[in-house]
Amino acid sequence: MKLTTWGACGTVTGSCHLLEHRGFRLLLDCGLYQGEPRADNRELGFDPREVDAVVLSHAHLDHTGRIPLLYREGYTGRVYATSPTLKLARPILEDALKLMKEDAKRARRKGLPAEEPLWSEADLRVFAERSKPMPYYSPRKIGPFRVTLKNAGHLPGSAFVEVQAEGRTLVFSGDLGNRRKETLPDPDYPRVADLTLSESTYGDRPHRPFQETLVEFAEVLGRTLDGGGKVIIPSFALERAQEILFYIRRFEAEGRIPVVPVFVDSPLTTRISEIYHEIQDAFSLEVQSLYRRGLDPFAPQRLRYTQSVDESKRLNELEGPAIIIAGSGMLSGGRILHHLRHHLPNPKNAVVFVGYQPRGGLGHRIIEGEPEVEIHGHPVAVRARVYSLGGFSGHAGRDELLDWLAAEPRIVLVHGEDPARASLARRLRARGAQVTRARLGQKFTV
Ligand SMILES: [Zn+2]
Repeated sequence: MKLTTWGACGTVTGSCHLLEHRGFRLLLDCGLYQGEPRADNRELGFDPREVDAVVLSHAHLDHTGRIPLLYREGYTGRVYATSPTLKLARPILEDALKLMKEDAKRARRKGLPAEEPLWSEADLRVFAERSKPMPYYSPRKIGPFRVTLKNAGHLPGSAFVEVQAEGRTLVFSGDLGNRRKETLPDPDYPRVADLTLSESTYGDRPHRPFQETLVEFAEVLGRTLDGGGKVIIPSFALERAQEILFYIRRFEAEGRIPVVPVFVDSPLTTRISEIYHEIQDAFSLEVQSLYRRGLDPFAPQRLRYTQSVDESKRLNELEGPAIIIAGSGMLSGGRILHHLRHHLPNPKNAVVFVGYQPRGGLGHRIIEGEPEVEIHGHPVAVRARVYSLGGFSGHAGRDELLDWLAAEPRIVLVHGEDPARASLARRLRARGAQVTRARLGQKFTV
C-alpha cells in the first residue's frame, strides 16, 4: 500500500489522506481547512476523478467538508461511514454551505472580491445518494482493501479505520475521543499495524481531571442561578452542546442546581439533538439506559429550543435566572454575540466557556479579563463573571494518545500543530517507535 498525506499536516483541520494499492485509490476523510490562513480548500493535491472510494472517520466539518467538492470535481464513487456519521454530517454540511453563502453575500455588499461557496446543494445531494452506511467491527471489501471501522469515542458514530491488504495493515486514528466522556462509549484499541496514521491534537498536554471540571461547572451554575443571574454558554452545535445539557439535567436530578429555564438558541444544535433520538445505540450504556426508561438524557426539565431570530432576541427581555446555550462556539458569529452584548455588562451573570477559544479572538479577550470588548461595532463592558472550563475536550489528551499508540512500531503524526506533534513524537521515540511528522504530499510505503 502507498499512503500520501494530503491534509492536516501540522494543522488541526483539513484531514485528508490517500491510500493506493494495485491502482485502486481509497481516500480517508476529505475535510475542510477552517481558519488556517495558508490553506487553500480548492487545492486537493490529487484528481478526484481518479479516486475510487472514500471512507469517513466522523461527521466533523474538518473531516467531511470537502466531500461535496469531490463530487463537484468529478468523483462518482461511494462514501462509506457509520450510519450516525452520515446522519450527523448532513446538517453540519448544510450549515457550512449557508455560512459560505452568507460570507460571499457580505463580501459582495462591501464591494470586496467574493469567494463563491466551494460546492452547492446539488453536490450535497449526490453525496447523500452515494453514501453507504457501514457498521463497526464488520470488515468490508473495498477494491483490494479489507476495511474495518472501530469505535473512536470522539462523536456518536466516530470511527478509526483499519485497512488491510496482502497481509499488511494501516490504522488511521481519525480523531480519538477522551476516555472520561460519560455520554460516549470508550474508544477501542487498534490492532498492531505496519503503519499507524495518528492524530496528535493534544500531543503536548494531558487534560485536567474531568471530575474537577464537573464540580466547578455545578458550582458556577448553582451560584449564578441562586443569585438570580443568567448563565451564557457559547458552544459548538455537535456533541458539546448536548454534553452540557446532559450535565445540567444530571445536576438538576441530583438537586445540585435549581431548575430554571434552559434555552438552546441554535437551530443547528436543535437539529442535531433531534438526530440524537434516532441514533441511541451510538451512546454510552448510561445514556442508552436513560433512553430506555423513557427519559431524554439531553433534556433538562425546562428545556426550550428557540427557532426564529425574533424568539432569540426576545430572550433579552427575559426576567430571572436562566441558562442560554448558543453558537457559534468560538464566537466567530451567530446568536451568541447578541446574548453576550446584552448580558456581559451585568455582574449578576456568568459566561462559561466550555470549548477552545482562538488566541486574539473575542472569547480569548474576555477570558483574559479585558474590561471592555467590541461586539457588532459597539463597546461592551465585561462585568459578568467569566469562567473557562478546560475539561470538556472531545479529544484524547497526551497520556491517552500514548496509551492508544503503546504497541505501535511505526507512527505518522497528523492533525496537530507542530509543538504538539514534536512533543508527542519525542515521547514515542523514547519508547522505540519510528515516528514521522507528515508533510503535505509526503508518501509512505506500508
Ligand atoms: Zn473531530
